[in-house]
Amino acid sequence: MAKAIGWIGLGNMGQPMARNLLNGGYQVHVYNRTPEKAIDLVEAGAVLEENIQELCFESDIIITMLSDDQAVKGVFLGEGGLLNGSVSGKLLINMSTVAPKTSRELQEMSKAVGARFLEAPVSGSVQPAIDGTLLILVGGSDDDFREAQPLFEQLGKTALWLGHVGAASYAKLAINYFLALTLQGLAETVLFAEKYGVSAKDMLHIVNESACGSPITKGKSSAILNHAFPASFALKHMAKDLRLADEQGIAFPLSTPLIDTYQKALQEGLGEEDVMAIITYLNQQQTTDGATE
Ligand code: NAP
Repeated sequence: MAKAIGWIGLGNMGQPMARNLLNGGYQVHVYNRTPEKAIDLVEAGAVLEENIQELCFESDIIITMLSDDQAVKGVFLGEGGLLNGSVSGKLLINMSTVAPKTSRELQEMSKAVGARFLEAPVSGSVQPAIDGTLLILVGGSDDDFREAQPLFEQLGKTALWLGHVGAASYAKLAINYFLALTLQGLAETVLFAEKYGVSAKDMLHIVNESACGSPITKGKSSAILNHAFPASFALKHMAKDLRLADEQGIAFPLSTPLIDTYQKALQEGLGEEDVMAIITYLNQQQTTDGATE
């Protein structure tokens, strides 16, 4: 019989990912701080649990997909949290992006209560989550990785085992550093071109048809043209990932101004917008700088 899966965290990523497990024939028990977000999944066959303890009791493998370190630690370690529940012998998989140190701490604390732990952050946003084509980066024991493989096959196109717990978190921070560079680079390119009379539409066409074009530049073009940034990957999460990279000591000519730009965009209130709203912040800066010249 298929294993019962417990799923905690039904945000932009968690909802489509949990749905893919349901579609794959798994029995899925869900818990979310805001239970209303589970309505569609319950209609599709998921069981909504009132609390984390109930979810632990009903599940063989438990997956978390939460915003940040604080949320993940709260769910694992808080009162009524995972590690106070019936998890002995079970496999706990954190798919949220957190600091490598947090992953290692969760592994140690899971072990102390007899549970096993994998970190499995993902690359890819809401559409790949819907399509089941995420790139899943995994750290932990190879036995646990093998046990989780059928689930990963349901959620992603590739699950890459990178070794010890912590390794996958480093890899995730590295790929998101590249993503942040790419998106800020795209934003600056469009704004520079516009300043000298090349429309955003034409410039995005050039980028996307050139060797620089990529799924991410193509995927973000319509948001730039429509000046509308509903969150697929919220800017606050990218600011968090860059802060984590900063805490790991990333230090390159581009890293300091990059981290600074995303933190300032966050402070300007753009955190709930999609990460591509970095162009809104850069545009505001340009206008302000121009006005004070
Ligand atoms: P999201 O839409 O902001 O959802 C966050 C989830 O965490 C929600 O279920 C939220 O519950 C829960 N949460 C937040 N704080 C909590 C707390 N203190 N206690 C309990 N639950 C809490 O985030 P997302 O976009 O799904 O991203 C989830 C993770 O995946 C993040 O680590 C992100 O960096 C990473 N990621 C995201 C993307 C993407 O494109 N979106 C891509 C790759 C990786 P409520 O519903 O109650 O608020």
